[in-house]
Amino acid sequence: MIGIFRKFFRFAGKQAKLFYQSLVISLFHAIFEALRIPAIAVVLGALLNGTMTYKTVLTSLGIMLVSIAGCTITRASMTMKQTKGGYRVATNKRIEIGERLRYMPMGYFNDNSLGYITSVTTNTAENLQDVATRVIMLTTQGILTTAMITLAVLIYDWRIGLLITAGIAAFFGINALMQNKSRKVSPLKTEADSHLVEAALEYIQGIAVVRSCNLDQGANKTVDKAILQNENINFKLEKTFVPFMCVQSLVLKFFGLAMILLSIIFYFNGTMALMNCLLLVITSFMVYSQLDSAGNYSALLRVLDLSMDKINEVFETPVMDIGGKDIRPESRDLAGKDVDFSYQERKTIDKANFAIPEGTTTAIVGPSGGGKTTLCRLLARFWDVDSGSITLGDRDVREYTLDSLLENFSMVFQNVYLFNDTIANNIKFGKPDADDDEVREAARRACCHDFIAALPEGYNTVIGEGGATLSGGEKQRVSIARALLKDAPVIILDEATANVDPENEALLQEAIAELTRNKTIIMIAHRLKTVQHANQILVLDRGRITQRGTHDELMKAGGLYADFITMREKSIGWKLGGREEKT
Ligand code: ATP
Repeated sequence: MIGIFRKFFRFAGKQAKLFYQSLVISLFHAIFEALRIPAIAVVLGALLNGTMTYKTVLTSLGIMLVSIAGCTITRASMTMKQTKGGYRVATNKRIEIGERLRYMPMGYFNDNSLGYITSVTTNTAENLQDVATRVIMLTTQGILTTAMITLAVLIYDWRIGLLITAGIAAFFGINALMQNKSRKVSPLKTEADSHLVEAALEYIQGIAVVRSCNLDQGANKTVDKAILQNENINFKLEKTFVPFMCVQSLVLKFFGLAMILLSIIFYFNGTMALMNCLLLVITSFMVYSQLDSAGNYSALLRVLDLSMDKINEVFETPVMDIGGKDIRPESRDLAGKDVDFSYQERKTIDKANFAIPEGTTTAIVGPSGGGKTTLCRLLARFWDVDSGSITLGDRDVREYTLDSLLENFSMVFQNVYLFNDTIANNIKFGKPDADDDEVREAARRACCHDFIAALPEGYNTVIGEGGATLSGGEKQRVSIARALLKDAPVIILDEATANVDPENEALLQEAIAELTRNKTIIMIAHRLKTVQHANQILVLDRGRITQRGTHDELMKAGGLYADFITMREKSIGWKLGGREEKT
């Protein structure tokens, strides 16, 4: 138990100050609670001695009032500090996690499902802000208050004081057994919570597929199963803890009863004054009350412990080396030397060597799954290479801070993600401090001003999460506007032709032409026109750059590239990277 307290205060970081302050206040709260004993003692003493006067009553009343007022004020102040501390710890951890995710290699998002991260930032952080503070504070308060009352009783009669101490020891003995049991079953609860979030997210994200394949029943079953499993685990947890809680409570009641009996026995054998006896009988009803309620919550300490572990796990995952420097490269020449890269065990880029001089256009072509997207993403350091190196302006990309590296790149991929925000803010993502005129200008150049202006609220129209309310071509052009606003010198572009109607296609090409003017362009090319005009073409096949050169050179050389072109001539469309272009 103490270990968990210590861990929590370490975990809370700077906010621990609020909890320490709250603990000091809870000490005063305990003293105010214990004041009730002398208040009763004054009246009892006077009654027994026959010296009762108004002054005695007023003195007792005064002490009682001080006790009640003190308890109320300290409780309010404690609650405020704990609540503030709880919310701040959860908020800070959420922000730190968000910041850390930015520096995680993309592989992290492969291994850890969206559900896991979502559940850490929602459920787990919520456990911290709501459960943690309450549990930690209730248990510490319970212990402190009981300790204070025990101290007061020890002054009156050390024998009864010892009896109360024995009761506390017995309570902690049973509590330790419960904590032990909790260590085994609590992980099931956190797992079930994560699983439920994962299942619900997957169901919602895949709802379109579920409907189109008429799989409603099957997919629902997975969510239902996760919900039922969650219910069962929570029930199992309660079933495990309730007997311990009952025994804990029973033991405390037993010691309270023993306190009454012993006090009476001591009175009858003449070793205790009547007043002390009566006082202790009254005290027996309140001595353990705080500890008793703390005991009911202490089972949750293990859940709190696991919540902290789960959050710490995110911080323990190695981020990409962020010890880089803020570098302004002298040129935007890009080069790869013996680049090897694997997803898990599977080699995806194999000894790739390439040079992309500033201001040129490089088209990457090759069969589907050949590694084109991967190579582009390695340039912008979405992942680190396994061996070899990638340089920008003759400096290894790993020497840069991620921010200073990414300043040089704008990326437009096929699967555009737009945030659930206004169109203006989505475009501004490329340059957060851009003004309205700049946003409009970028939208105009990206050929999306007209469709935005026709929306009910124009640039202030909120688009659904992922851009669900826009067509594929519209989303793509908004993402080009975003890239135009960023105005980075290197453009990485997955040329889109799939699923775009001819009208959108023409606008898209116009937008791309705007975006790529006077830039260094690396393009996963699907259009013959683009490829023909590129300064160099890299043919990527199963991770290897098998051919490089201009269109004419490669046509003359024969091989994979020439085969693609010949295939195109033989068919209505041509295929590169699995996509088809109508000509
Ligand atoms: P396409 O033309 O179909 O888009 P591509 O040439 O761009 O394909 P990549 O997307 O780079 O190919 O994929 C290369 C290989 O790496 C594929 O076999 C793919 O399944 C695999 N792959 C891609 N992304 C991941 C990932 N995040 N985790 C594991 N494997 C991946």
